[in-house]
Amino acid sequence: MPHPKRKHTRARRDSRRSQNSKLELKSLSLCGSCGAMRLPHRICPSCGSYKGKVETPIKEAKKEDSNPQ
Ligand SMILES: [Zn+2]
Repeated sequence: MPHPKRKHTRARRDSRRSQNSKLELKSLSLCGSCGAMRLPHRICPSCGSYKGKVETPIKEAKKEDSNPQ
């Protein structure tokens, strides 16, 4: 079994553990149809379009939810 020879410092340990929180959303791209910020290679959260085509009409679904009749 490999075994550590020296104890790592608190700074080294904490810097290693901080690498897991590095997956924050730093890369955002503009939507081609509405211009909102969206994740690349994902449909737009505001208009639901991907590569110029409307895959999921999000706004229409929200209107149906907001008007219970
Ligand atoms: Zn959009």
